Amino acid sequence: MFGLSGKVALVTGGSRGIGRATAEALAAQGAHVIVNYVRGEEEARRVVEAIEARGGKAETLGFDVADLGASEEAITAAAKRLGRLDILVANAGVSIDNLLLRVKEEEIDRVLSVNVKGALGCARAAIKVMMRARTGRVVFLSSVVGEMGNAGQSVYAASKAALLGLTKTLAREYASRGITVNAITPGFIDTDMTSSLGEGTKEGMLKAIPLGRTGRPEEVAAAVAFLCSDAASYITGETLRVNGGMYM
Ligand code: NAD
Repeated sequence: MFGLSGKVALVTGGSRGIGRATAEALAAQGAHVIVNYVRGEEEARRVVEAIEARGGKAETLGFDVADLGASEEAITAAAKRLGRLDILVANAGVSIDNLLLRVKEEEIDRVLSVNVKGALGCARAAIKVMMRARTGRVVFLSSVVGEMGNAGQSVYAASKAALLGLTKTLAREYASRGITVNAITPGFIDTDMTSSLGEGTKEGMLKAIPLGRTGRPEEVAAAVAFLCSDAASYITGETLRVNGGMYM
């Protein structure tokens, strides 16, 4: 039902965390997965090896999503070489947390460049290819923080809320071309991104999660795989929450 054999999928920031779990989940469903990385080439190669060891197909592709020229060139060339691009999972993201009054301009630029401009650029390049095939799936990794806000994360929250507006807009723009566009809003997931949070912050967040625990990257990846599959063919412009009940 969730089968993706014959499909080509690109996962940005796929070398670790949710991106890695997503690359593995899509490959397990039969997709040929392009694992994008910016600095973690070695890590990305290990993801490819892990996928291949289970009989799956994958390759690495290095580019900085914040560099629109580089991302478009890389995505267009990969799609040409592989003959198609069916799925984009715009997962690459950064978080620089501080109270608004202390945030530096370069930090605002960095977070918005990667999280918003990067997602826009990859989506544009991928949709160009998908339009010709008249089919495609785009999934943006937003965040629960973009829906409910979180003190100390104003820039990150703004960037993740932007992806929800982008999701709905692209869903409307490209529905007639057979392309669905959806967002996932993970809650508190155990990855490198959240490992730097202080114990106090973590404890406070756990109290707000009805399921009483943090999530695993694989639990987010399963939701992404569903949205990328034929089982989700009538779902577009939607936000799927994977947050243990933290926000309903
Ligand atoms: P992570 O920091 O482990 O992984 C992020 C990945 O993005 C890394 O591989 C990193 O190298 C890559 N990346 C960063 N800048 C890039 C760039 N310019 N070009 C290409 N790749 C780049 O984080 P994660 O927890 O796995 O998060 C993945 C996504 O899910 C992010 O968009 C994050 O905002 C979102 N998210 C995470 C959580 C969580 O609790 N972990 C919650 C909600 C949303």
